[in-house]
Amino acid sequence: MKIGFVGLGNMGNPMALNLLKAGHNLTVYDLSADAVAKLVAVGAAASNTLAELGADNEIVITMLPSSPQVKEVYLSANGLLASVKPNVLLIDCSTIDPKIAQDTAAAAKAQGNAMLDAPVSGGVMGAAAGTLTFMVGGDLAAFDRAKPIFANMGKNMVHCGKSGNGQAVKICNNMLLASSMVAVSEAMNLGVALGIDPILLASIINTSSGRCWSSDTYNPYPGVLENAPSSRNYTNGFAVDFMLKDMGLALDAAARAKQPVMMADLAKQLYQTWSEQGAGMKDFSSIIQLYQASKNLN
Ligand code: NAD
Repeated sequence: MKIGFVGLGNMGNPMALNLLKAGHNLTVYDLSADAVAKLVAVGAAASNTLAELGADNEIVITMLPSSPQVKEVYLSANGLLASVKPNVLLIDCSTIDPKIAQDTAAAAKAQGNAMLDAPVSGGVMGAAAGTLTFMVGGDLAAFDRAKPIFANMGKNMVHCGKSGNGQAVKICNNMLLASSMVAVSEAMNLGVALGIDPILLASIINTSSGRCWSSDTYNPYPGVLENAPSSRNYTNGFAVDFMLKDMGLALDAAARAKQPVMMADLAKQLYQTWSEQGAGMKDFSSIIQLYQASKNLN
């Protein structure tokens, strides 16, 4: 198929590569000339403008930082909606505000284009391995049309209902993850402060009622899991600042829904503090170090 891909960063690059590997005719666009050059070097065509990309593809996929960039790319005077032909399928895989996803999809629908919100989980490693999970909001017919494309980039795709629902599911999951990582950090630090070996402690938690993904797959204590970012000084993971962005989206959505989220609010303050101390680019499980640093002050 003729596919256009916009946003070729940490996630977009490997996703676009997998589309090329699957044999699609891929045209790419990014503000970064470097990011475009990497894809052109392996067989993609480059578009000079969004309008050019929008006018000449059957499917357009975007993988952008957050809501402002998605609004700009789709809704600006020189953006995608101003250039795509009717019946082109639009798929936004960025993690953004569910309300912006709904508004953008409504604008697309008004001119005859189906648009799906399809945020992903699985991270950069999942993107490279083609094992992402897509949480998808939008028309079922559009979802069915997109399924083979999702299958080229991921393993699981779940239709979550109407426009914005994919984003709603994604931000609920990440909000929970942020809090569970803080809770595991507290438990691991307390156990070690009480003289317990962290590996022993984690092994018991992981077969007991405290077990969760933050303890058994991504434990924040260094040396417990050799493949977790905690064992490589919190590099090459999911950045604190990205987690902060997702928590901001969740708290905004909660405020609109008049739904209390006290734990998440507190967790966000912790990640905010940690980011302000210079840890914004570290993996989010480094939040355990915030507690270690405060302990050393006493
Ligand atoms: P990134 O910052 O590495 O890449 C974003 C790309 O978009 C960059 O290449 C940038 O130049 C480009 N861009 C920005 N504004 C643009 C514009 N107006 N027009 C064209 N290109 C533009 O970000 P990423 O890590 O690839 O994340 C992308 C999205 O995926 C985010 O919404 C993030 O929350 C989500 N996500 C990331 C991860 C992860 O582990 N990194 C995991 C799951 C979901």
